[in-house]
Amino acid sequence: MAKTDIEIAQEAQLLPIVDVAKKAGLTEQMLEPYGYTKAKVDIHSLTDKPQKGKLILVSAINPTPAGEGKTTTSVGLADAMNKLGHNTLLCLREPSLGPVFGIKGGAAGGGHAQVVPMEDINLHFTGDFHAIGAANNLCAALLDNHIKQGNALGIDPRRVVWKRCVDMNDRQLRNVVDGLGGIADGMPRQDGFDITVASEVMACFCLATDLLDLKTRLARMVIAYTYDRKPVTVADIKAQGAMTALLKDAIKPNLVQTLENNPAFVHGGPFANIAHGCNSVLATTTALKLADYVVTEAGFGADLGAEKFLDIKCRAAGIAPSAVVLVATVRALKYNGGVAKTELCEENLAALEAGMPNLLRHVQNIKDVYGLPVVVAINAFPTDTAAELALVEQKCNELGVHVALSEVWAKGSEGGLALAQELVRLCEEPSHLQYAYQTQDSIEKKLHDLATKIYYADGVDLTPAAAKQLKQLEEQGFGNLPLCVAKTQYSFSDDQTKLGAPTNFRITVRNLRVSAGAGFIVALTGDIMTMPGLPKIPAAEKIDVTEDGTIVGLF
Ligand code: ADP
Ligand code: MG
Repeated sequence: MAKTDIEIAQEAQLLPIVDVAKKAGLTEQMLEPYGYTKAKVDIHSLTDKPQKGKLILVSAINPTPAGEGKTTTSVGLADAMNKLGHNTLLCLREPSLGPVFGIKGGAAGGGHAQVVPMEDINLHFTGDFHAIGAANNLCAALLDNHIKQGNALGIDPRRVVWKRCVDMNDRQLRNVVDGLGGIADGMPRQDGFDITVASEVMACFCLATDLLDLKTRLARMVIAYTYDRKPVTVADIKAQGAMTALLKDAIKPNLVQTLENNPAFVHGGPFANIAHGCNSVLATTTALKLADYVVTEAGFGADLGAEKFLDIKCRAAGIAPSAVVLVATVRALKYNGGVAKTELCEENLAALEAGMPNLLRHVQNIKDVYGLPVVVAINAFPTDTAAELALVEQKCNELGVHVALSEVWAKGSEGGLALAQELVRLCEEPSHLQYAYQTQDSIEKKLHDLATKIYYADGVDLTPAAAKQLKQLEEQGFGNLPLCVAKTQYSFSDDQTKLGAPTNFRITVRNLRVSAGAGFIVALTGDIMTMPGLPKIPAAEKIDVTEDGTIVGLF
């Protein structure tokens, strides 16, 4: 039987983190070790160092519910680039405990393309998420205390928008009533929890360029509205200093290694729907100062992940990828071609071909809308047949789309050399990042540009509530922020059953709200869960620890 991810990870020979740091061009003095194989990096001394590396973004086609291997491909690609002698750093998000104990599992890669120690990275790691949760909950405590202590700001307890958070899938906390007891126990109100990764503190943390910028972002977050509907910010309750104090270590990028002992930053992990879904700006920009190539991943398919990476993160940080990898799997192509989830393991060349337009549309978006070189990486699964793999390659070749088979899950860097070679070549091609919309345009124009250029929709409809919110946001001066669309990851449209390359549809925006600290307007196209629940049989049931502290069953 094939080895599980955790079995492969536990057999790896890890280097001391000091040695990994040397490969990344970091001195021992810059390391704050957390044990022997993890460290935080003090990047102070690098502040004035110019960026020199080329950035490679890994995104994907519209996936199946199981995930198509962006993280796995990113890890394998970074190892393959290093194997070819190119100094390469990997930048990934930190996993959340919600999916680890729920359905999806860890987020440290898979097979022979993982970052290690995978148990630590998937569990508490260096405590960043706990720190982010604490900063978030400090704000909540200060806010409710303000109301209890006389409410000088006139905060309407029914219009508190700030939620407490915990890094767990716990639907029981989605809606709660708190402040019960009596006069001494606070003001009773309806409240709710979000999962930590969905908090705006997390989004600010991942977009911040330094500690001071983080404090400025936290200060401007809107946490409630007054009885006369004026926004109340973190600065109004003087919480930003203490919140930033709780985050001063968390904000330092975490250094770990791949199975092949190459350096990787794993830092930050914002939700990919109501936030922008990529690792911290600080980790990415630091990596670009240290390495010749930086490989990073953005959550969900390219219509959401790559779009936000480019239109939000790159715009905010002043960076741009030199090339983009679109991960495609035979399974996801068949899924987009109409095959049921349960039958994805059977060979089906007709469905595979029917799913190709989904891939081609993503390719076209990256090339024509964003102006970037792109290569398709076919992430080979054990269930793929030779005929299926050949067909994808042939179709791409016919249409002049660069394509490389990636076998990094099965073979590690050896299986990614062709892809790495292609990327080295593509990174030399001329590229000039263009955005899908201009931030100075009206919210309506920005929504229209995004929906028509990236999703191929005919246009955008706003519900009456969203139209009212749009007007208020423009009146409050938030009209020139970029957009963060929360939409199903399964379709270009806002209907998850419209697979492939749908046309003749409109996008309905139901809710518009500002994340003033992160610096974007969230446009919700459906009900988005910011506190997920656990499935009937949670992955947690299989996770255990032996007498000597070895973790088992963690995928
Ligand atoms: P994503 O980042 O796109 O969500 P991941 O890289 O985390 O996807 O992979 C999702 C799951 O699929 C992981 O459990 C991983 O081990 C598995 N996986 C990825 N690539 C392959 C492959 N080529 N063959 C088999 N399993 C794979
Ligand atoms: Mg991933």
